[in-house]
Amino acid sequence: MTERTTSIDGYGPPDIITTDVVVLGGGGSGTYGAIRLTDLGKSVIVVDHHDYLGGHTYTYTDPASGNNTEMGVVAWYDIPVVQNYFKRLGVKLQQTDIARAGTTTLTTIPVDFRTGKTVTSIYSGNVTQGLINYVEQISKYPYLEDSFDLPDPIPEDLLIPFGDFVKKYNIEGAVQILNIFGNGMGPFLDHLTLYVFKLVSLASIKALQENNYQATVSHNNRAPYEAAEKILGKRALLSTTILSVDRSSPLGVKVQVQTPTGKKLIIAKKLLSSIPPKLENLPGWDLDLNERDIFSEFLNAGYYSSIIKNTGIPDGIEVRNFGADTPWNVPFLPGPYFVQSTDTSGLFTVKYCTPAPIGDANAKAAIIAAVERLKTAGTLNTTTPEFVIFHSHSPFEFTVSLEALKSGFYKKLYALQGGKKTFWTGAAWHAQDSSKLWQFTEKLLPEIVKGL
Ligand SMILES: Cc1cc2nc3c(=O)[nH]c(=O)nc-3n(C[C@H](O)[C@H](O)[C@H](O)COP(=O)(O)OP(=O)(O)OC[C@H]3O[C@@H](n4cnc5c(N)ncnc54)[C@H](O)[C@@H]3O)c2cc1C
Repeated sequence: MTERTTSIDGYGPPDIITTDVVVLGGGGSGTYGAIRLTDLGKSVIVVDHHDYLGGHTYTYTDPASGNNTEMGVVAWYDIPVVQNYFKRLGVKLQQTDIARAGTTTLTTIPVDFRTGKTVTSIYSGNVTQGLINYVEQISKYPYLEDSFDLPDPIPEDLLIPFGDFVKKYNIEGAVQILNIFGNGMGPFLDHLTLYVFKLVSLASIKALQENNYQATVSHNNRAPYEAAEKILGKRALLSTTILSVDRSSPLGVKVQVQTPTGKKLIIAKKLLSSIPPKLENLPGWDLDLNERDIFSEFLNAGYYSSIIKNTGIPDGIEVRNFGADTPWNVPFLPGPYFVQSTDTSGLFTVKYCTPAPIGDANAKAAIIAAVERLKTAGTLNTTTPEFVIFHSHSPFEFTVSLEALKSGFYKKLYALQGGKKTFWTGAAWHAQDSSKLWQFTEKLLPEIVKGL
C-alpha cells in the first residue's frame, strides 16, 4: 500500500490508496484471499461494510458468563487447506461434534411451528442405509465437490426435485439428517438435486461419518478472523461502504469508498470480489449488461440467526421443527428450524428460514410469533421473547432456475472470471461451505498474482 503524490478524481494524495489487489467483501472467502495474497507478497486492501471480518462466522459472547454461542459457522473439514490456514493464523483446531455448538445435553420437543403443537409421530427410517445410498449417488458426480463446472448436458438426475430423488434412490432414512446439513437453503425437498448435492456435499457427509469436523479449541470460531484482522491491520477497511467501482480506467480498478474517517479512492491492479453477487449488493459498480443479466438470475433463501431471552422455555430444551403432515416430517418453511437452549442459562438460539428474504423486521416478528404459538397450542408456557442479538444471513444459498441451468448458466458465470481485471469468489460461485470456498479461492490465486 503506497500513497501517491498527485490528486485523482478530486482525491488528494492522503486519500488515495494504491494496492496490488482490492478485495471486496471480507467474509469467509475474501479474508482467505487477502491473507494468502499477503503471504504471496502482494499488497491488499480488504473492504467490508461490517465492523468485523468473517461474514457468516460470528460468535456471540455472553458478557455475564463469558460463554460463547456460534451464530454462524460451526465447523470446518480436516483437510490441508484448512489446517494450513489455521496454522498460518495461529489458531488451534480440534475435532468437534457437528450436531451442535454447545456442550449441554438437550431434550428435544418435536413441534410443528405452524401450529405450535407437538408432533407425536415422526418418520424413522434406516439412517445408515439412507446415507449409504446418498453417498453412492453423490459419488457419481465428483466434479460437484470442486466447482460448478458442469457437463453439457447436465445429468437428468441432478435436475429433478430432491424429494423425487429421495424416493428414486431410497434415501428416505437419511432425509432428516440431510435436511439439517441443508439448513438455510429453503424448502429442502423442492430444490433440484444439484443444489442439495452442492450444499450437502460428499465431503460434508464423509466428515460426519469419519467424525473429524474441526472447530477452534477456544470455542470461538471468530478467532481466525480476529487473527486476520490483526495481520491485515489498517489494510482492512471495516464499516466501509463501497460508493463506486470503475474497472475501465487505465490506472487500474478504481474503488471509491466511504470509511469511518472519510472518503478514499483505492486504485488496484486487480479486484477480487466475494460480495454475494446480487444486483442490490453492487450499487455503484460499472456492471455491463452481461454481468447484470447473469447476476439477476440468482434466487436465494432468507436465513436468520438470533439469540433470544425471556422465552419461558426451560434451559436444556430444544424445540425442533417437524412438519406434522410433510414428507418424512421435513419442517415446513417459512419457519424456525429450532429454538435451542445454549450453554448460557436463559439464552436460546433460533435459526429461521424463508424461501426468499423477507427483511429483518418481518423475520423478527415471525420468530416471536413462532415462540408465542407454543403457548397458544399448550405445548410450553412461553412468554414474548426479546432479542439479545439478531443476524441476517440473507441472501443465502444461490440457485438459478432449471431453464437457466439448461441454458449453460454456470458456463456464462465462470466466463466472467478474470475479465475486466476482476476475479470472483464466494458461495454463489461454488458452495455455502467455508472449507470448499478456501479451496476454490486458492485455485484462483495463480491467475490473480500473474503479472503483479
Ligand atoms: C448459520 C450458518 C451456519 C453455517 N455453518 C457453516 C459451517 O459450520 N461450516 C462451513 O463451512 N460453512 C458454514 N456456513 C456457510 C458459510 O458461512 C459460507 O459458505 C461462507 O461464509 C460463505 O463465504 P462467502 O465469502 O461467500 O460469504 P460471507 O462469509 O458472507 O462473506 C461476504 C462478505 O461480504 C460482505 N459484504 C456483503 N455485501 C457487501 C457490500 N455491499 N459492501 C461491502 N461488503 C459487503 C459481508 O459483510 C461479508 O463479510 C454457515 C452459514 C450460516 C449462515
